[in-house]
Amino acid sequence: MFERVAVIGLGLIGGSIGLAVAEHLPGVATTGYDVDPAVRRRAAERGLAGTICDAPAEAVREADLVILCVPVGAMREAAGEIAGALKPGALVSDVGSSKRSITRALTEALPGQPVIPAHPVAGTEHSGPDAGFATLFHHRWCILTPPAGADPALVTQLASFWRALGSRVEVMDAEHHDLVLAVTSHIPHLIAYTIVGTASDLEEVTRGEVIKYSAGGFRDFTRIAASDPTMWRDVFLANRDAVLEMLERFLADLEGMREAIKAGDGDTMFDLFARTRAIRRGIIELGQDDARPDFGRADHG
Ligand code: NAP
Repeated sequence: MFERVAVIGLGLIGGSIGLAVAEHLPGVATTGYDVDPAVRRRAAERGLAGTICDAPAEAVREADLVILCVPVGAMREAAGEIAGALKPGALVSDVGSSKRSITRALTEALPGQPVIPAHPVAGTEHSGPDAGFATLFHHRWCILTPPAGADPALVTQLASFWRALGSRVEVMDAEHHDLVLAVTSHIPHLIAYTIVGTASDLEEVTRGEVIKYSAGGFRDFTRIAASDPTMWRDVFLANRDAVLEMLERFLADLEGMREAIKAGDGDTMFDLFARTRAIRRGIIELGQDDARPDFGRADHG
């Protein structure tokens, strides 16, 4: 196991890693750094890392694992800030939601340093240093995307680290990750952002009515559409190709549903709705969500 872990970026994901290490790996020392001094102060109050440092170089100097937990668009800059201060052989990883562009950014910014990108598929719509909690990664997948030539021993070590925090681990290449996540995460966020925007722009339905009758389905979209704007802008900029590919497929299927409604083709609608209901059941059976109407999220406050 790694002995010293540095976390750069102390928001939802970085803070949760720090708290999870303290809970599950108490022998591992953690240091943390965030660009925002107010976040550093709050991180110190909440104990998001054992030592909160005022400079990135100071945070990573002794670390044998460094995890970049900054927005996707800030990864290259964050890597550049630690480049001269890393221990030789220290593993650099990240938690960004798209992997191809980050792999390129990290390997270019950190020549000669081992880099194994990762993506914990766990999160909430909250962000910042108050959002993290130690159990965020429990029973959630963490996808490792080692670049060609990565040391298998380091991949195993990083996988053990994430398992210790409660994650299940999968290894795949970055390109496949970006395609899978485009359809399971990025397009759903795009749809939620768009539908909530559409509803709030409607002139013939008042905003009061949209809020009052939201339990009809809209409410569940608003949770996703409340996600961090910086994070999601960066995800769509970074994973443009895979998102556009999946968006084409989605728009074709949406067009198919429009035709079915226009033609009064109830069978087509029923077949799709029956298939999708089975997928929801599968997700619950796999322990990836909760059958309760609030998805069990009240448990996290
Ligand atoms: P967050 O709560 O906003 O935290 C990110 C923190 O990083 C912010 O405090 C930010 O400060 C700081 N930061 C920005 N640039 C920095 C730099 N160069 N050096 C040090 N700190 C810097 O965001 P998050 O939700 O934890 O997301 C972090 C990463 O996790 C993103 O790459 C995201 O794609 C990935 N991720 C998120 C989720 C999710 O559900 N939220 C799930 C899986 C993975 P400022 O606010 O001042 O910029």
